[in-house]
Amino acid sequence: MTVPPPMGLIAELTHRCPLQCAYCSNPLALDPPTSELSTGDWLRVLDEAAALGVLQVHFSGGEPMARPDLEAMVAHAHRAGLYTNIITSGVLLTPARMAALDAAGIDHIQLSFQDSDAARADGFGGYRGGHAKKLAAAALIRDSGLPLTTNFVIHRGNADHVEAMIALAEDLRAERIEIAHVQYYGWGLLNRAALLPSRAQLDRVTAIVEAARARLGGRITIDYVVPDYYAERPKACMGGWGQRFINISPSGKALPCHAAETIGGMSFPSVRDTSLAALWTGSEAFARFRGTDWMPAPCRSCDRREIDWGGCRCQALALTGDAARTDPACARAPDRAVMAEAIGEPATSRILPRRLRAPSVRPSPVL
Ligand code: SF4
Ligand code: SF4
Repeated sequence: MTVPPPMGLIAELTHRCPLQCAYCSNPLALDPPTSELSTGDWLRVLDEAAALGVLQVHFSGGEPMARPDLEAMVAHAHRAGLYTNIITSGVLLTPARMAALDAAGIDHIQLSFQDSDAARADGFGGYRGGHAKKLAAAALIRDSGLPLTTNFVIHRGNADHVEAMIALAEDLRAERIEIAHVQYYGWGLLNRAALLPSRAQLDRVTAIVEAARARLGGRITIDYVVPDYYAERPKACMGGWGQRFINISPSGKALPCHAAETIGGMSFPSVRDTSLAALWTGSEAFARFRGTDWMPAPCRSCDRREIDWGGCRCQALALTGDAARTDPACARAPDRAVMAEAIGEPATSRILPRRLRAPSVRPSPVL
């Protein structure tokens, strides 16, 4: 099978972050700072990405601005011809750093918000004063002439504030708004009983998003991601395993998806000793769920198999105990009942905030 080059590289520079979001997409076992790739390692990886044909690099984390060498990496990626994006909480963005990033050639910044109002946002993120810093960061980004995407992750506790979130994004002169329901892996799965919205909440959010889209026309784009638990069909997770993205963890593991390390029995190559080209085209890990040959029934004969690629492997593992089963987010999946069971779980207000030290409680498969 000929493998076209990946479109994007997701560079998780660090798992350090001043915030403690209970839905964080980072793994439960976070990479310690001492294990992080060096600046030189990252610059080499960026060169390899450009040579492989990657178009975009997304500097992510944790909080990528916790790395003081972020500006050097952006400059290097820019010189290599890569489109550069930073996915940040914004709390570490100062005027000096904004100027340095601008000079380095940053193309785009995506800024995340925990809620529409400071008290609730700071409470959820566990960082007092964070929301005010984000507002200041948004102004710095727009004043430097860069496009801004604001990202709001939706859960039961903030789903009723989506109208105010959209108004906030308009005030901040965002060009794109991402309203994305929590994806229930890692910390989100651990906290699912506290975060999963009700069907009525979801329907209200959807109606608000649709009305805002109609009102804003082409002026601001709104991307909307619904929770898999209420979906009829799964997402094409990462655009298909090993097809569009390489995700590099802070310690250098190359992953087809940021949660892939949860899949036991697989070993993932490290960029410390394997080139991006070699791991993309030659590693077992990237080939394991690529394409359609691995698929079970009913995906194998389904007319959508090259649209959603059978959904998410990590979600299949988390909910059925087997990464090679059809994602239960699909209404045709044999394990679909686990979604209804999850929706019917008693809600709790007990939330475990994200911490560098892995929690002793781990989510276990529903089946
Ligand atoms: S989701 Fe929250 S805790 Fe996780 S990296 Fe982003 S800002 Fe930090
Ligand atoms: S059966 Fe498989 S390929 Fe078909 S829609 Fe569901 S997940 Fe996608």
